[in-house]
Amino acid sequence: MDDVIQLLPDAIANQIAAGEVVQRPASALKELLENAVDAGATHVQVVIKDAGKQLIQVIDNGKGMSQTDARMSFERHATSKIRTSKDLFSIRTFGFRGEALASIAAVAQVELKTQQADKDLGTMIQIEGSEVKKQEPFAGKQGTSVAMKNLFFNVPARRNFLKSNPVEMKHIVEEFQRVALSYSEIAFTLFQQDLEVYSLTPSKLSQRIVSLFGKSYQENLIPCEEVTPHVTIKGYVGKPESAKKTRGDQFFFVNNRYIKSNYLHHAVNSAFSGLIQPDQAPFYVLFLDIDPKHIDINVHPTKTEIKFDDERTIYAVIRSAVKQSLGAHHVVPSLDFSLDVNFNEKWDNDPEKKAQVDREYSYKSFNTPEFKQASTSGWERLFEGGQSSISPSPTREKQGEESEVLTFSSKANPQGGNDSFSRPKSGEESGTTFQVELNYVVAQMSSGFLILDQQTAHERILYERYINQLKLAQGTSQQCLFPPIVNLAASDFALVIDIMPELHSLGFVVSEFGKNTVIVNGVPADVPIKNEKDLFEGLLEQFKHFKNELSLDTRENLARSLARKSSLKRGQKLNSQEMETLVGQLFACQNPNYGFGGNKTFVKLDINSIHSFFGK
Ligand code: ADP
Ligand code: MG
Repeated sequence: MDDVIQLLPDAIANQIAAGEVVQRPASALKELLENAVDAGATHVQVVIKDAGKQLIQVIDNGKGMSQTDARMSFERHATSKIRTSKDLFSIRTFGFRGEALASIAAVAQVELKTQQADKDLGTMIQIEGSEVKKQEPFAGKQGTSVAMKNLFFNVPARRNFLKSNPVEMKHIVEEFQRVALSYSEIAFTLFQQDLEVYSLTPSKLSQRIVSLFGKSYQENLIPCEEVTPHVTIKGYVGKPESAKKTRGDQFFFVNNRYIKSNYLHHAVNSAFSGLIQPDQAPFYVLFLDIDPKHIDINVHPTKTEIKFDDERTIYAVIRSAVKQSLGAHHVVPSLDFSLDVNFNEKWDNDPEKKAQVDREYSYKSFNTPEFKQASTSGWERLFEGGQSSISPSPTREKQGEESEVLTFSSKANPQGGNDSFSRPKSGEESGTTFQVELNYVVAQMSSGFLILDQQTAHERILYERYINQLKLAQGTSQQCLFPPIVNLAASDFALVIDIMPELHSLGFVVSEFGKNTVIVNGVPADVPIKNEKDLFEGLLEQFKHFKNELSLDTRENLARSLARKSSLKRGQKLNSQEMETLVGQLFACQNPNYGFGGNKTFVKLDINSIHSFFGK
């Protein structure tokens, strides 16, 4: 039989390679931006049309290419950046594979214009599906412009596979942000459809972060720096209150190259543990500088994953660096704060302030009519009162479920209650309470224990309070001493206007204050808050989150959002009075058994269950 193996023509080989390098418009943009940076540009302009499907053009003022290099740059494995395999281990440039331009030219119509500094003439090349259509001299100025048109024009299957414009544009902006962050000394502009999206002047990293992500970051950045013989870390982490539910604003750069690493993300997250909720992720932009010989960036064509030869050390250094910077900036470490994590300041240094805030906190949170009643009557009787009416007396077989299905009557829901509930005998002590892992409140009763999830329980209490206030429109306000002016995205502003009546019912005093801006003159009286702006913005964020996830009606959503925002948090230390108050208030609720999300607020470990553990 004849020989059948043939070398593929270049155009096809390039197209296959392109599958790996150019998955979508954003990946082409990434390559073009990196080339511009590698060329030493100080000013880079990006023009996008139709989310990159029609045009991505990157114009730089870098060193340009000679006529021969311009032609060579489209050949596969043609690069000026490494010469020998040894160079692979000392890579400081973005590119090194020499694949990007060849791949892009295989699947798009590309026009390259480039000119070197000392030359009167530059070169223009048009290439389509790896085929050079035109090459001629051209007079411009120093630098390079690569215009990539009609991506995948010759691979319809892949073109159809592209996502909607908003999705593709989101990817494009993300790639742009990554490069713009790692080179804050370079000016970048981004135009979409003739509209200027970003115009970034050369600046310090902190300023670049603010230009990219908004003014709110101005007060929210904590510098983070650590130098060890192995690795240097520099950058910023966001204060815990700027943490978001949506992941996205987290950036690691290794030798200025953006990388993704769940492992290292975990290192930062764990440094924040106790300061943010488990479903939140902190903002960070961290640059790791490490000798290239300790990393291998050659593991993935799009190069966002890299290998470290000693990942564990890097993990430990990052974690400790972030912890230190949080500590140095008076963000309370996880174990000894007595306030909502969102009001993190290091009170321990100032006992008087701490005492005052503690007082205020317990006053505002707990000094409500139902608490006064509940706490003076002793919560155990509240509970026992309810309990007696359903006479659980579980049998052995059932007791596993028993603690789950018990429902208790309450003061607010007396159907199941009896007399002892509303008319407690005086002079009786309520049971001992203590905290486990700063997370659960254990309350001793005569016949066993109650274990409360402190956050879920407090959320239930607040939720019912806010639902009532919304119904009766009777929320009281505390005036803001320095009313914050809150600048909002247009869509958020529209939302605030929309829910303004409900906000007023809760006790917010908010009014319009110019374009897309509101002023917050008052906040609900019973919310223990240090920063009204954070409260308001946090509430909005929570509201949007619930809206996306659950499509709740406005009142339900607001009550939940404010309850979530202002509740006790996991990790928060409680004194015994606060614990008893919590238990008392919970059982004064209409529905004390479940949090608004459906999780149990407490379980009961009664004496029968305890007996059964020991086979009795
Ligand atoms: P790589 O960046 O991996 O070397 P590319 O295909 O992206 O591969 O680019 C090939 C070569 O073309 C580069 O090594 C560089 O010499 C040259 N080049 C590409 N873009 C530019 C640019 N914007 N300015 C100057 N030279 C460029
Ligand atoms: Mg490149």
